[in-house]
Amino acid sequence: MAKPEMGTKRLCMACAARFYDLKKPKITCPKCGAAHDLDAATKARKTRRTAEPPAEASPSPAGE
Ligand SMILES: [Zn+2]
Repeated sequence: MAKPEMGTKRLCMACAARFYDLKKPKITCPKCGAAHDLDAATKARKTRRTAEPPAEASPSPAGE
C-alpha cells in the first residue's frame, strides 16, 4: 500500500515516468516537467452511472 500522504500515483503521459502527485492541485512531472490535467484524469476515473447513457444504444420507443 502506498503512503496516502504521497497522493495518487501518476504515470507521466510525456515520458512515462511514475511519480506521486503529492495531492497538489497542479500536477507536474518531476522528470520532464510536463503538466497533467487533473480534471481530465479525475473525470476519466470517476465514470458515474448517473451520467448520460450512451447515445448509440438508445432503443427508447416513443412513450414511456
Ligand atoms: Zn514526464
